[in-house]
Amino acid sequence: MKSLESPSPIAALAGRFGRRATLLACGWALASCLVSGPALTPEATSAPRIAAERTRGQPIVVLLALDGVRWQEVFGGVDRALARRFRLKPSEVVGATELMPSTHALLQRSGAAIGAPEVGEEMVASGPNFVSLPGYLELFRGRRDSRCTDNACPPVAERTVVDEISALSQGFATEVAVISSWPGVLRAAARHPERIVASTGRTGGPTRHYLRRDPISAAVLSAGEASSSYPGHGDYRPDPYTAALALRFLETEHPRLLFIGLGDTDAYAHKGLYREYLRALGRADAMIGDLDRALERLRTQGHRATLLVTTDHGRGRRFAGHGAIAPESARIWLLAAGSGIRARGLVAAPELRRLSDVAPTVRRLLAVPPPEHPTHAAGQPLVELF
Ligand SMILES: [Zn+2]
Repeated sequence: MKSLESPSPIAALAGRFGRRATLLACGWALASCLVSGPALTPEATSAPRIAAERTRGQPIVVLLALDGVRWQEVFGGVDRALARRFRLKPSEVVGATELMPSTHALLQRSGAAIGAPEVGEEMVASGPNFVSLPGYLELFRGRRDSRCTDNACPPVAERTVVDEISALSQGFATEVAVISSWPGVLRAAARHPERIVASTGRTGGPTRHYLRRDPISAAVLSAGEASSSYPGHGDYRPDPYTAALALRFLETEHPRLLFIGLGDTDAYAHKGLYREYLRALGRADAMIGDLDRALERLRTQGHRATLLVTTDHGRGRRFAGHGAIAPESARIWLLAAGSGIRARGLVAAPELRRLSDVAPTVRRLLAVPPPEHPTHAAGQPLVELF
């Protein structure tokens, strides 16, 4: 799947997915379907204008998680030792700015990043097992908790930052969304997923049908449901569908909080496919460029709009795996850009930073007060970003 490209990546993607979805739905009557299919252009709906009126001046935070992406590639580019092991061509061994051009352009222009090597203290997932569900639980709850140690933990039983932000709206909050490739994310994101817009995996999320109100999102959602789960398995939805849905949601709904979970990087890494991991990272970088442009448009409409990008865990020295057996896979990173963020490039964290610090940082950006009774092992806002 090609990367998302400007100027109208959503229209291009939705056009492609939309046509495929139409073909799938129409069976043999192709000609009539192609003629009578929905007009899949952004102009097909007045939703963006309505959202602009409804949400004027409201702060917006987009939190993007790139599953299992190592700090080594984010800050150092293609790993030379892995490039030899996986027989990459010399032309494929590029530095960080070439591997992730949009991310590094954003970082140099208006961003700040924590977790770069030799720059301040490290940022980590607290574990003790450095796998996805414990990582996302720490991220959404904003506190460390060693009780969840694998991806089979029960759904979160306490209020997360997503629940807190959705509680600002009455009833069903269309201003908060969780859109992810890996379905398991929903078990960590919210105690009340029925009160937010959620599309996790190909068919997960109790409220995913809300997205069908918009013809472009409906087409992408259907194409995602009909797609193969590769490079994941089970109900996993490949990243291009997740990315297109999330971008469209941002542009049409102007949500207060949008969590986007991309997972192709981790899925390819588990298969030991370093080249494919790098390509998935390249597509994630293109998504960061698209989000940057979308948030800039929202700022011109009067929003304070901020992008946070992080990961749920790193990877072991052998690359394919991660977890308690590889303590080095605890190490993560975070990039921030936009309203409220001081453009400082690589930032030295004054003390050890954790995934649990992300939720307090989101609260600060959205001007939501912290919980009245801070719990044990609660995170702290990443003040070095402000
Ligand atoms: Zn993994």
